[in-house]
Amino acid sequence: MGKDALNIVWLKRDLRLCDHKPLFEAEAAQLPYRIIYIFDSELINRQDCSLRHLQFIYHSISDLNEQLSPFNREVEIFYGKSVEVFKYLISNEPIGTIFSHEETGVQQSWERDKAVAKVFKDSKIKWFEYPTNGIIRGIKNRFEWDKHWADTMKSPLILNNYTQTSIILLEHPFKLPIELLEELKLYPKHFQPAGPKSAVRYLESFFDSRGESYHWAISKPEESRYHCSRLSPYIAWGNISIRQVYQLTKSNLNVQKHKRAFNAFITRLHWHCHFIQKFEVECSYETRCVNSGYEEIQWENNPEYLEAWKQGMTGYPLVDACMRAVNKTGWINFRMRAMLVSFLCHNLDIDWKLGVYHLAQQFLDYEPGIHFPQFQMQAGTTGVNTIRIYNPIKQSMDHDPNGTFIKKWVPELQKVSKEHIHEPWKMTLLEQQFNGIEIGKDYPKPLVDLKSSAKKGREKIWGQRKNTLVQEEKKRILKVHTRRN
Ligand SMILES: Cc1cc2nc3c(=O)[nH]c(=O)nc-3n(C[C@H](O)[C@H](O)[C@H](O)COP(=O)(O)OP(=O)(O)OC[C@H]3O[C@@H](n4cnc5c(N)ncnc54)[C@H](O)[C@@H]3O)c2cc1C
Repeated sequence: MGKDALNIVWLKRDLRLCDHKPLFEAEAAQLPYRIIYIFDSELINRQDCSLRHLQFIYHSISDLNEQLSPFNREVEIFYGKSVEVFKYLISNEPIGTIFSHEETGVQQSWERDKAVAKVFKDSKIKWFEYPTNGIIRGIKNRFEWDKHWADTMKSPLILNNYTQTSIILLEHPFKLPIELLEELKLYPKHFQPAGPKSAVRYLESFFDSRGESYHWAISKPEESRYHCSRLSPYIAWGNISIRQVYQLTKSNLNVQKHKRAFNAFITRLHWHCHFIQKFEVECSYETRCVNSGYEEIQWENNPEYLEAWKQGMTGYPLVDACMRAVNKTGWINFRMRAMLVSFLCHNLDIDWKLGVYHLAQQFLDYEPGIHFPQFQMQAGTTGVNTIRIYNPIKQSMDHDPNGTFIKKWVPELQKVSKEHIHEPWKMTLLEQQFNGIEIGKDYPKPLVDLKSSAKKGREKIWGQRKNTLVQEEKKRILKVHTRRN
C-alpha cells in the first residue's frame, strides 16, 4: 500500500476512547485514520435487536464525538451491509490497515466478520483484531483461562492519546435513513443515559455510596435498582472496559471498607467474561438447547400466555411488575430476570426459544454471550446446572414484602393492601371492593395455577434429564469445540 494510505478503526461493541487498543494502534501507526461505526442493516433486522439498543449506540457515539471534537475527529456513521460499506471505502481511497476488537457475537455477526475478512484479503488490506475483555479466540480448552483473565485485568490500562487531524469527513451514500435517524436522536429518559461519561458517573456513585449495600439489595427488585452498579449497558456496548472497572474497583478507598459488597461485584465481572468465553466457543446456544437432549421436549406454547407474559398481564403481580419495568426501562436485577424465564418455561409451559428474543430486545444491556446461556440455565435446558423453579409469590413476599415495587409498575394494584398484594385473586368480592379493584376486570386472574403448573414443569424437565440421550449429550458438551478460529 502506498504512502498515502489511510487506516480505519472499526468500532463495534467498544464505544469508548480509553483502554482501547485499536485506537491506540491507529495513533501509533502515525498515518491518517478514520473512525467508523456501521449500523449493519442485516444485523439490525435480527430478532435480538431493538430500537433502544440502536439509540444507546447512537448516543454513545455522540458522547465520543464530543470528546473527539478538540482533535477535529469524529466517528463516521454508516448504514448498510458491512461488506458493501467496506467495498465502498476501499474503492474510494487507498486503505492500509483496519483495526478493531474481536466481537463475540451471534453466528450472523461471525459470518459478517468472515465476509469482510475476505474483502480485506482480496484487496490486500491488513486487519488487526484485538481481544475483548480477556476473551480468547480459538481456545482449545479453558484450563488456564482463569489465570489469563486475572493477568489481563491486572495488566496496565491502555493510555490513549489523540492527535489533531485534517482528514475530511466522507460524503458517502450509506447515510442512516432519515426516519431511523429521527428515532435515534430521541432518547427516552427512562433509559440509563448512554456513553462513557455516564459509565464513569455510575461507577463513581456506586463506589461512593450506592454499592455499600450491594450484596443486601441485589435480589430485591426495588432496592437493586439503586444499589446494584447498573454498569451492564455500559459494559455491554463497551463504554467502559472490564479492566477499567476492575482496576478502578481495586484502587478505590471506599471499596476497601466494604469488602463483602465489592468482592461480590468483582466476582460478577469475572462471570461476565466467563459466560462470553463459553459463547465464543459455541454460539449455537442462541438457537439450540445447550444439551440437545432437551430439543425433544414438547411445550404447550399457548400464544395467549406468551403474549400475556410479554405484556406483564399474567395475573401474578411480581411477574407482571418485573416485565413492565423491563419493558419500560430496559433493566431489572438478576433474580427477577431468572424468575421471568422460570415462569415462562416451567409455569406457562412455553419453549425458551419463544421468549428469548423478547427479553433480548428489552434489555438495554443485551449481551448475547450472557443472555442465551443464562436464559437456558433458567429454562433448565443446559443439562448440567441445578434446575430452579422460582415461586413468584414467595419471591414477592421475600423481596417486595410491602408491594412497593409491584404498586409502582402495576398501578391497577395501587390500592390493594399489603395483606393481599402478593395474591390478589384470593380476595373475596367484598375485599376486592374495599381494595378498589375487580380481579378479572381491572387486573387479570392468574393464567395458571402455580402449584400444579410448577409440578408439571418440574416433572417435564427432570424427566427429560433422566433420558439417556441427555446423559450422552452431557458427555459430549464437556468436550470443547472451537468455532471462531
Ligand atoms: C435470563 C437472563 C438474561 C440475562 N441477560 C443479560 C444480558 O443480556 N446482558 C448482561 O449484561 N447481563 C445479563 N444477565 C445477567 C445479569 O442479570 C445482569 O448482568 C445484571 O443484572 C446487570 O446489572 P448490574 O450491571 O447492576 O450488575 P452488577 O450486579 O452490578 O454486576 C456487575 C457486572 O457483572 C456482570 N454480571 C452480573 N451478573 C452476572 C451474571 N449472572 N452473569 C454474567 N455476568 C454478570 C454484568 O456485566 C454486570 O454489569 C442475564 C441474566 C438472566 C437471568
